[in-house]
Amino acid sequence: MVSSSIPLQGQGTLTVPAPHDTAQSGATIEQSAVKAAAVNFNFYYGAFHALKDVNLQIREKRVTALIGPSGCGKSTLLRSFNRMHDLYPGNRYEGDIRLYPDNTNILDHRVDPIEVRMRIGMVFQKPNPFPKSIYENVAYGLRVRGEKSRSRLNDRVEQALRSAALWDEVKDRLQSQATELSGGQQQRLCIARCLATDPEILLFDEPTSALDPMATGSIEELISQLRARVTILIVTHNMQQAARVSDFTAYMFLGELVEYGQTNQIFLKPVKKETEDYITGRFG
Ligand code: ATP
Repeated sequence: MVSSSIPLQGQGTLTVPAPHDTAQSGATIEQSAVKAAAVNFNFYYGAFHALKDVNLQIREKRVTALIGPSGCGKSTLLRSFNRMHDLYPGNRYEGDIRLYPDNTNILDHRVDPIEVRMRIGMVFQKPNPFPKSIYENVAYGLRVRGEKSRSRLNDRVEQALRSAALWDEVKDRLQSQATELSGGQQQRLCIARCLATDPEILLFDEPTSALDPMATGSIEELISQLRARVTILIVTHNMQQAARVSDFTAYMFLGELVEYGQTNQIFLKPVKKETEDYITGRFG
């Protein structure tokens, strides 16, 4: 794979890999379908206008990274994609978050937010397993959906743990408390918990910021594997990580989407000066 380097202000260089190999799917990255989109989207925390007229398309089975300085609205946008803000009073959405191919506006009050969260799972900054066994953490969403068959639950739990690259490490202690796992294992368990309900999109909010370099590497590798089956939106502060794992990058500033494009283009040939200043470390 051919990669390029960008000199950073006093911080060495940023290596940008060539676009991910798409030979397996036979499609180029531009050809991927749109899986979800924020359309004329605004968000308010009470009187505070946190996101302003955001229009962003999320490509199917690709990784899209949200980058930008602290407080620019990355997490606010990410959380809107599974209606996390519904949990707090005073928050208000305007515009649409559309999910395709059914073209559902997931913000519509007739759409059940619990079902949205099964179709669009979320992995948080700090691993947050439930205080239950490893098995019950993964089976949780399936039970909420009404699955009672023990053999189907067993199969799905195993499948999800395998997909999260955790099965071999936990298969002999599925009844142990999830909190006994290491931080990196707990994060993979949270990914397995999402995968069990077969989500269409996974949202990652700085998923490695609480992890050591080894655990970070395994989560990044997992993200690269998961993109074959699920659409991924990730918030990261780490430019190298955005360059390594994503196909598309959106740069945000002060609640607005400044620039969006293929990761290589955003990192190597940004159209806007603000984007270039942020990426090269001159700002933020
Ligand atoms: P960081 O990189 O530091 O996590 P971010 O880009 O993810 O930041 P957000 O957390 O989305 O930014 O915050 C966007 C803006 O909304 C900020 O000005 C923040 O202070 C504000 N904000 C976030 N959460 C709330 C809240 N619960 N109530 C009021 N304002 C909030």
